[in-house]
Amino acid sequence: MKLHPSIDNGIAPASPGFSGGTLKCKCASNPVTIRIDAQTAHNHACGCTKCWKPDGAIFSVVAVVPRDKLHVVSGGEKLQIVDPSATIQRHACKDCGVHMFGRIENKDHPFYGLDFVHTELSGEAGWSPPEFAAFVSSVIESGVDPAQMPAIRARLTEIGLEPYDALSPTLMDVIATHIAKQKGVLAA
Ligand SMILES: [Zn+2]
Ligand SMILES: [Zn+2]
Repeated sequence: MKLHPSIDNGIAPASPGFSGGTLKCKCASNPVTIRIDAQTAHNHACGCTKCWKPDGAIFSVVAVVPRDKLHVVSGGEKLQIVDPSATIQRHACKDCGVHMFGRIENKDHPFYGLDFVHTELSGEAGWSPPEFAAFVSSVIESGVDPAQMPAIRARLTEIGLEPYDALSPTLMDVIATHIAKQKGVLAA
């Protein structure tokens, strides 16, 4: 069962002191390159239909970095926003289709200030490894046979990625806490 190349054959650990690298799209000439000056956080496999996946993968693998640590180095003229109405605006290379980063422009969003990136686009090893699997049930929306779900969840568990049908409990708590503070039911 192929879920994603970054997790199918075991998960590479983070390197201590790792402080970033360069992401490149799949174009053979004039690729879009992005420099990230930080280690990533909250890396996870994602089953939603919006995240970019490499060919043949059922899941994406996506992490976050502070948006001020992400810089477009070259090829920026090829970037376009996949769906301007989406909460996460995914900036993709219009030639090869790879999503280079996702950005939230709504300042009230719990994850405002973080950009979403796919570190498999980097040649460097040592990025933070995926920690869990999110939106697992959503792979059905991409055409996966529902009968496959028990096997998919079992395989994720075997790899060490706890399968969730939303984000992880930690991140769902972050979102709920943010909303509670906005509403004033928790002290800010
Ligand atoms: Zn490209
Ligand atoms: Zn996703």
